[in-house]
Amino acid sequence: MTESRVPGGDAAAVLEALAANGLKAVWAAGRAGALERALDLVRPGDVIGSGGSVTLGEIGLVDVLRAGRVRGEPVTYLDAYRKGMPREESVAARRRSLAADLYFSGTNAITRAGELVNVDGYGNRVAALTFGPGRVCVVAGVNKIVPDLHAALARIRTVAAPRNCRRLDRRTPCRDTGVCDEPACRAPDRICNVLSVIRRAPGGGDITVILVGEPLGF
Ligand code: SF4
Repeated sequence: MTESRVPGGDAAAVLEALAANGLKAVWAAGRAGALERALDLVRPGDVIGSGGSVTLGEIGLVDVLRAGRVRGEPVTYLDAYRKGMPREESVAARRRSLAADLYFSGTNAITRAGELVNVDGYGNRVAALTFGPGRVCVVAGVNKIVPDLHAALARIRTVAAPRNCRRLDRRTPCRDTGVCDEPACRAPDRICNVLSVIRRAPGGGDITVILVGEPLGF
């Protein structure tokens, strides 16, 4: 754990649980510190991929990566989320990101037991989190902490998915009602097609989780 202001309560328990699960747990008191801890993981010349994430944008990481330099050193960012980007180009960038040196992502929920819970429409993000890029970094605000897996799924259905469907202009039942209607959600726009629970660090995985002491993302 790094940073001087060590958290208490749920955050401290989650950091301990993440570490016990074989993940590298890092604390950042706020978004500025989170950006620095994320940039600490970048090596000169890295090819970097990312999941689509409001959190990564809010800490300023996406802007840094798009500029192509981290602390004066060149990096290559496989940007799959530029506004107006053709779908084929975006899918190709997501596919190439699975072989990146370093992958950044947010997460939909973290349980008190230190589990990372995510749903994906394409599955690229959960694939990258579990196997592919040599180094993975997950950034999460304390608002993502939930008691258990049941609460994680509830959070996804009532908070993360509806807000993301509105952000991404997806025509799904939850977008308008704020509540999941899974049997009715057959639209190609559905974002809950793949569910991933990382209970422990996958074999050969190098996953850092930066837990941030403020609400971030959805
Ligand atoms: S399954 Fe469909 S309606 Fe339910 S949360 Fe996911 S996108 Fe929304």
